[in-house]
Order: sequence, then C-alpha cells, then structure tokens
Amino acid sequence: MNIHEFQAKEILRRYKVPVLEGGVARTAEEAAAIAQRLGGTVVVKAQIHAGGRGKAGGVKVVRSPEDAAAFARGLLGRPLVTHQTGPDGRVVRQVLVEQGCDIARELYLGMVVDRGSGRVALIASSEGGVEIEEVAASTPERIYREIVDPLVGLAPFQARRVAFRLCFPKELVNKAVACFTALANAFHECDASLVEINPLVVTKGGDLVALDAKMGFDDNALYRHPDIRAYRDENEEDPREREASNFELSYIGLSGNIGCMVNGAGLAMATMDIVKHAGGEPANFLDVGGGASKEKVREAFRIILSDPSVKAIFINIFGGILRCDVLAEGVVTAAREVGLSVPLVIRMEGTNVERGKQILAESGLAVQTAANMEEGARMAVAAAAQAR
Ligand code: ADP
Ligand code: MG
Repeated sequence: MNIHEFQAKEILRRYKVPVLEGGVARTAEEAAAIAQRLGGTVVVKAQIHAGGRGKAGGVKVVRSPEDAAAFARGLLGRPLVTHQTGPDGRVVRQVLVEQGCDIARELYLGMVVDRGSGRVALIASSEGGVEIEEVAASTPERIYREIVDPLVGLAPFQARRVAFRLCFPKELVNKAVACFTALANAFHECDASLVEINPLVVTKGGDLVALDAKMGFDDNALYRHPDIRAYRDENEEDPREREASNFELSYIGLSGNIGCMVNGAGLAMATMDIVKHAGGEPANFLDVGGGASKEKVREAFRIILSDPSVKAIFINIFGGILRCDVLAEGVVTAAREVGLSVPLVIRMEGTNVERGKQILAESGLAVQTAANMEEGARMAVAAAAQAR
C-alpha cells in the first residue's frame, strides 16, 4: 500500500525525521487559511500517488494566501499528468500547503528492501531531485549504500559514514545521523517496504529537512498498523485491484487481453509465462487462493469480465483444497449473472474434476476445455486473436 506525501510526513514527524510545518487542504479556501496561519512564503503541492509533480506544474512556491488559493483552485478536481502517472494523469483531490524553505543543497535519501543481500538498505546520494534510477544508470558511483543488520538496526557508524560521503560539514553530521536513524526506525516499526526522501535538503540556515516523502508498506503487515491502514486512499487504486482486495483476492492488473484465473501464486506465474509463450499478453495476475469459495470464484470471474480489454479468459486450476466442482459452480454462477461476453478456455485437473466438467457441460456455457496448460494457453490466445 502507498500513501500520500502529507501522510508520510505525519508518520515521519512522529519519528523525529525533520519535516516542515504544513496542512492539507481540500478546497482553495482551506489552502488560503493554512497559508495565512503559516505566514510568509509557502509551497502548494498536489497530493497524488505519483512523483514528478514539480516538473508537471503540481508544486508552486507562493507568497500570499490569495496566491495559494488561486494555485490550489487550479489543481483541485483536475487530473495532473506527470511522467509517473500515465497519459490520463491522476485527479488531485487535496493539496499540501507547507512552509517555504531556502534550499542550499538537494540530496536523495531512501530505504528499500535489497533483494541481493536480503536486507534493508539505506541509500543516499548527493544527486537530489533527480530520479534515483537515472543516477544509478549514469553515475552509480554517486550512490552510497548501507546494509542494515536486522538485529542491530542502522548503526551510528553507518549513519556517520553516509554523512561523510555526502560531504556534510562537521556541524551537520550529528543532525544527519539523527535524521538517518529516525528514518530507519520509522521504516522498521511501520513495516515499510519503501521510503524515499527526494529531495532531502540542507537549508541555507544549516538544517536538514525532508522536503518530499514517499512511503510504501508491506500489505501483509498492515493488520498490525490500523492507523496506517486508515491512510488508504481508494481513489488512487486501480479499480480492478480495489474490488479484488475487498474479496481478499491476489489480483494485479496488467495491460494484455487474456484474463487469467488461477489458484496458487506459483501456478498463476507459470500461467502468465505460458500465455506469453503462446504469443499472448495476460490482462492480469490472479490467484484465487487455495480455499476459495464459490462466492470468491464468482467475484474473481466478475472482476475479470469487467475489464473491457479482456478478449478471452483462461482458467487454469489445479483442484486441491479448491475443488473443481466448486470452481465450476462459481464460474457458471458468475457467467449467468454477468453474461459471458468473451470466449472461455478451462483447463482443470485434480479433486472432483469429473464433477466439475459435468457442471460446465450441463450449464450450456460455451466453454472450450483444454487437456493441458500449454494447449489451454494456445486456445485462449487464438480465441482472443479471433475476437479482435
Ligand atoms: P516531486 O518529486 O513530485 O516533483 P517534490 O516534493 O520533490 O515533488 O517537489 C519538487 C521540488 O519542489 C523540490 O525538488 C523542491 O525544489 C521544491 N519544493 C518542494 N517543497 C518545497 C518547500 N517546502 N519549499 C521550497 N521548495 C520546495
Ligand atoms: Mg520529489
């Protein structure tokens, strides 16, 4: 799960990562009131789950409450297109109004789960404001990395080493160590999967401030953090994924045209591979889970059918705990309720497979059955090509 910048800053403030004063506004009038309260120069920032807002006109330094209101009015209720949003952009529903700050230096600070070491890594770079992927590609030597020992946490010497590499003057080193340590604590205690402070700035007054903040969390740990879960913004989610998560289905929307319904994450991955191998593109990853009920299967099928780009559906089930007859009943119910508008290919094996096939045959649905996965993938790809 991802959250907004202003929410990430609320969390970071609690952990004593230095952030500026500010408030979130849903109307131009609220933006003006916050600017009035803060006084002086303020910055109005569009709140969407995407970066690149600065370059796209979603961030502006203004000198009066009237200007804050005017800029907020221009943003609110309209989509903002940045290089991270895709061509449709994302509708701005709120803006952060924050104190302005005199920037002396912009840096990059982040924490990620590092797959290579299997640990969390603190990443810093003197190249702030620039995308870290770009720095990694063009000047990888400017990225410093400290692997965090899960037993010890980020050690003070590691934090100091990063501060020295960033060429901080002596008087900033202690502030940097405190900031990095606070960030590491926030990451760990919140079960974050990603924190990105881009830019972390050194102000002209010699302070360190997190000027931007992005946080992502491990969904499987959210049950431990009801306060973080409350930050969820459904407006920012793919509607297909939102529906699926309400039914506890593991669903990821993709851009192809073959809807896939599979049980088990491993088989779901293999199914996407084999669809690609057969020359097709999956429209989604979907694992209905081992113990799926008829209702869950029905919902899964409904979500796949609701995707207008789906031109054929491939159901690939190995009946174990999820029995083939339960699957068949779910599919038949959903197809009756929603109307099956695209070709359907089913490959199933395992528990109660004969009963499952019988239910499908008696349903009168136009189902093509495949003897194995590869045949099923080919049939689905061929059917989708015909439908186009
Ligand atoms: P994004 O990454 O989406 O472009 P940022 O929050 O990083 O958004 O803001 C873009 C730029 O705007 C920053 O690199 C910084 O130069 C400037 N900026 C952001 N917040 C402030 C602020 N409070 N005071 C002054 N400048 C700011
Ligand atoms: Mg940024």
